[in-house]
Amino acid sequence: MLLLHGKTGIVYGVANQHSLAWHITKALSAAGANLIITYQHERFAAKLKKLISDNLESPPLLLPCDVQDDEQIENVYRQIEREFGKLDFIVHSIAYAGREELDGDFIDTSREGFRTALEISTYSLLAITRPAVPLMPAGGSIVTLTYLGSERIIPHYNVMGVAKAALESCVRYLAGDLGKKGIRINALSAGPVNTLSARGIKGFTGFLNYVGENTPLGRNIEGRDVANAALFLCSDLSGGITGETIFVDAGYHIKGY
Ligand code: NAD
Repeated sequence: MLLLHGKTGIVYGVANQHSLAWHITKALSAAGANLIITYQHERFAAKLKKLISDNLESPPLLLPCDVQDDEQIENVYRQIEREFGKLDFIVHSIAYAGREELDGDFIDTSREGFRTALEISTYSLLAITRPAVPLMPAGGSIVTLTYLGSERIIPHYNVMGVAKAALESCVRYLAGDLGKKGIRINALSAGPVNTLSARGIKGFTGFLNYVGENTPLGRNIEGRDVANAALFLCSDLSGGITGETIFVDAGYHIKGY
C-alpha cells in the first residue's frame, strides 16, 4: 500500500516548479495523499494550475492563502473541513524578507524589515497550525523548512537567520504543546537549492557552488532529497520523532573545516 494512502494534507508555499514545496507536493502525491495546495497571490494561480495538470494524476484542491491574512487562513480550514472533514499533515514552506535586508549587513536591518521577515517566515507557522488542530483529532504531522543560517553566520542571510532560529524554537514549543494530542512537528534544514527565494540573497549562486564542492557527499542537495525527507516526516514511519530539526544538506553542517 502507498505510504500516504487515505491521508489528507496541505502544502503551503508552491510558487513555481523550482519551489521546495513543489518537489514535496510531487512526492506526497505519488505516495497517495489527498492534497490541498495554497498559493500566496492570484498572480501565481494560472501557472500553478498548469503545473498541476501537467504533473499530478489526482488534482489537489487549490486555495488562495496569504499568511498575513487570518481570514484567508480561516477560509482554508473551513473549506478543508467541508471537503475532507479532517487533516493528517501540513507542510509549511514559506519565508520572506525584503531584498534590501539581504543585500548589506545584518546590523542595518530595519525595524519594519525585521517585523515583516519574522511575521511571514516564523509567526505564520503558528498562524496556520492553531486552526488546524481541531481537524487533527487522530493526531498528525507538521513539517516546516529551515536553514543552517539559524545557527551559523551565512553571508547576507541576515534577518532570515534570526527568523529561522525563532522558527526552530517555535517547532520545539509547538511539539511540547501538541504532543499530547498526537500531533508531531519537525523542521527540515535544507542545504541551498536554486529557487526564487534563494536567488534573492546576494551572492547566492557563488555560495551554492562553494557548498556543492565542500559537502561530505561532494554535491549539492536536490529538491527531491528534501521531498523524500518530508514524505518520511508526513508518514507514520517517523511516528516517534517530534520537535527535531533534521538536516538534509549532504552533510555540510557537520564539517569543521
Ligand atoms: P520559494 O520562493 O519557491 O518559496 C517561498 C514561498 O513562500 C513562495 O511560494 C511564496 O509565495 C511563499 N510566501 C512568501 N510570502 C508569503 C505570504 N505572505 N503568504 C503566503 N505565502 C508566502 O523558495 P523555496 O526556497 O522553495 O522556499 C521554501 C522554504 O524553504 C522557505 O522557508 C525557505 O526559507 C526554505 N529553505 C530554502 C532553501 C533554499 O536554498 N532554497 C534552503 C533551506 C530552507
